[in-house]
Amino acid sequence: MNRSDSAPTSSAPGDGVRRIAAPVVLQARWVLPMQGDALPDGQLRVEQGRVVELGRRLTTRALDLGSCVLLPGLVNPHCHLEFSTLRQPLGHPGVSFPDWVQQVIQWRSSQQASSAAEPQAPWRQGLEEAAARGTAVLGEILSHPAQHIPPAEWPRLVVFFELLGPTPTRAEEAKARAEAFFRHVPDRRWLGWGLSPHAPYTVHPRLLAWAVAQSRQRRVPLQFHLAESPAELELLRRGTGPLAELLRRAGAWCPDVFASPVRPLEWLQAMQKAHRVLVVHGNYLSAEEHRYLAGQRKRFSLVFCPRTHAYFRHEKYPLAELVAQGVRVVLGTDSRASSPDLALLEEARFAAAEHRLDPHVLLRMITRDAARALGLESTWGRIVPGAPAMFTLVYPAEDTPPRPGTEAAEAILHGKLRRVELLVCTAECSPTTPR
Ligand SMILES: [Zn+2]
Repeated sequence: MNRSDSAPTSSAPGDGVRRIAAPVVLQARWVLPMQGDALPDGQLRVEQGRVVELGRRLTTRALDLGSCVLLPGLVNPHCHLEFSTLRQPLGHPGVSFPDWVQQVIQWRSSQQASSAAEPQAPWRQGLEEAAARGTAVLGEILSHPAQHIPPAEWPRLVVFFELLGPTPTRAEEAKARAEAFFRHVPDRRWLGWGLSPHAPYTVHPRLLAWAVAQSRQRRVPLQFHLAESPAELELLRRGTGPLAELLRRAGAWCPDVFASPVRPLEWLQAMQKAHRVLVVHGNYLSAEEHRYLAGQRKRFSLVFCPRTHAYFRHEKYPLAELVAQGVRVVLGTDSRASSPDLALLEEARFAAAEHRLDPHVLLRMITRDAARALGLESTWGRIVPGAPAMFTLVYPAEDTPPRPGTEAAEAILHGKLRRVELLVCTAECSPTTPR
């Protein structure tokens, strides 16, 4: 089945962001803390924007959120917000990856003139959309100056500055842009930041080595697209194929880099000394590379973007096998250039339909495991005392409410949904009446 053939989905009515003033005790039909057992009719005491207690029957005066599943705020580790104004993905379902890259290049150059008036528009729109679909934390791959990101209360951001530099000269230019980005980081209210050397065909090995050194020295994560398409593997093995042509046409061909065969494993090994690494896609990694990621799980996570994967009609992703092997797999939306929207829960629901996996394992991929991949495991991705009071509420459809004996995770991954909300508890704002 390839559901990306159907029309792009749109935001369900009623999705949005809800603010509630703390101190408050919240009650939901189900609380999934993502650590320990699910709590039917669970309650959370929130003070000063933080969870202080959770359990059952803390009080008889709780604010009842109704028949919903309350999760920690969802964590989307991988997105490119610059494409958020696209109404549908570039190309068509089944487009070859090099053709799609060509369309991205054309689209970017067409945007340069039109977005000059309001350069922040795609980021503003993308952040609003992600929040309205329940995302609390978002890992943004930024290929523009930091000023393109508007100040936003949510989702909270981890911004990865993208490094593109396939030749030694361009690699030096990319470093200079990154240095300018470093100077802006302290002014921003981001949750964190990192670097994203883009991919083996756009990053000179010397630039990758520099990024790894920066990651280690500054203790920040890296994101790297790897083994995404058969064309990339052909380039690495033989230095030929459509990506080689694309690089030549762009005046970005560096023959030394592809003079002898290279495996994705060697690129993985080149990042072994980084502080933390998110390998993005990895659609065509070998069994040996899977073993490497499992063995290096303290440092490495693998980001799977299910609807983007389906859009390109890649070979079946070995999701269950990777999990069984011990690879930390997390789910991302990627961007609107290859996915219908920025609804992270829809990525998990899509994966649930395509892969046989425990629903709790899938939900971990968009909560605690995703937080771990980004280095945020001490506070995000779990509901524990001290965690930020930012939650995702999922309301199953009227006809399939979670009942005692019905798995809440099952209901929100496999059943119909009424709406999804991001719930933010703040000490400052005025209370709103829950619907
Ligand atoms: Zn990406």
